[in-house]
Amino acid sequence: MVSAADVRRADVVIAGEQIAAVGTGVGTPDDEVLDATGCLVIPGAVDVHTHMDMEVGVTRSADDFLSGTVAAACGGTTTVIDFATAYRGESAAHGLAIWHAKARGRAVVDYGFHMTVTELTGDADDLVAEMAEAGVTSFKLYMTYPDRLMVPDEVILELMRAAGEHGAMVSLHCEDDATVASLRSEALSAGRTEPRWHAWSRPPSAETEAVKRAVRMAEETGAPLYIVHLSSAGALEQVRLARERGVGVFAETCPQYLYLSAERYEDISERAARFVCAPPLRDPWHQEELWEGLRSGALQVVATDHCPFTAADKKSGLTGGGWGDFTQIPGGLPGIETRLALVYQKVAEGVLSAPQWVDRCCTTPAKLFGLHPRKGTLEPGSDADVVVFDPGARRPLIPERLHMKIGYSPYEDVVVEGWPAHVFSRGRLVARAGEAVDAPGWGTWLRRGPSGSMADP
Ligand code: MN
Repeated sequence: MVSAADVRRADVVIAGEQIAAVGTGVGTPDDEVLDATGCLVIPGAVDVHTHMDMEVGVTRSADDFLSGTVAAACGGTTTVIDFATAYRGESAAHGLAIWHAKARGRAVVDYGFHMTVTELTGDADDLVAEMAEAGVTSFKLYMTYPDRLMVPDEVILELMRAAGEHGAMVSLHCEDDATVASLRSEALSAGRTEPRWHAWSRPPSAETEAVKRAVRMAEETGAPLYIVHLSSAGALEQVRLARERGVGVFAETCPQYLYLSAERYEDISERAARFVCAPPLRDPWHQEELWEGLRSGALQVVATDHCPFTAADKKSGLTGGGWGDFTQIPGGLPGIETRLALVYQKVAEGVLSAPQWVDRCCTTPAKLFGLHPRKGTLEPGSDADVVVFDPGARRPLIPERLHMKIGYSPYEDVVVEGWPAHVFSRGRLVARAGEAVDAPGWGTWLRRGPSGSMADP
């Protein structure tokens, strides 16, 4: 059994939907026994960054709450937090109701919501209180995408302050929009329309600059800050320095930034488009820095930013008639099914310890977003979300072996060592050897406690 703290030999007793006991000599002769000899028994993984069934231009992300959570379960993830979104002119309550309707009765594993805010029309304290009452204790704000998502720094500051005072947390997409806008128009006016120019127009310096600003705002308000999908070494350095000063800054990275690099944009445009995401894939040397960040704890979480589009949707673009330039390619990569095994590869290689793997993928995300100790740990009273991970299982990450609804895999040349053999969600088997056990609607919505602290409330 692997926890965020240690590895030990133990039995885990499940009674109903909860864990009843953990240790040696626990359980009774009448218990049904699953022999996990040779396997690692870990808490179900927690993915705090997914985009299911989200409208983007004329299309939508390819996985809905059924297919997306089936894929999650097959890969060992038993909790997801998706981004409910209040678009401009809509109330947060409206956005939340829409996302509840998308998920209800479909999800296979438990799920919660963050609230994405694209404008602030009323009082920030009222909004934070209303959402906390509705079980949502984290907010997502964008520092880019001015046409539909970005908010000005005054709004970030205001919401951060309110969140910090009421046990909630702001998470930020950090790219400096002035940098991006200027480089993008430079590329387009020179006729540079291919996917590689997407990456060129969103350089690491844009991320570093935005993270600096975000850290300064966290410092000014004294509120916790969570940086989503951190992709580059300079931005990580800003986080590390801030944390050393005692600023409450947390950051996640994603498997695509750990395993894929900007070389993908040199492929033919149609294939390169599959790797368009923001921030973009970086030069390979950033990966070493990100792994070191995960090892040292400067980076606390691996989440996926799972936002899958089919190859056909990537090709037809945001307007449906084919993309004319890189700004019209739906941005996002799949990843909900492959995260746990991909990160485990570095345990097999000796770069991360097994407890660090559990901490970054399961325990810390649950703690930061108000789900611990119900999720992210195997303790008496916790939900019986249990993964029996077989380190000897080899699995090629080809689309035929995966369940995300996209028909391709960004990792099709990778064969991972280790895959979940059994996955339980609240005591119910939801996946076996990487295949789903029929359980649509088993997943329940999670009302979350305070976010933004590593300590339990
Ligand atoms: Mn995202």
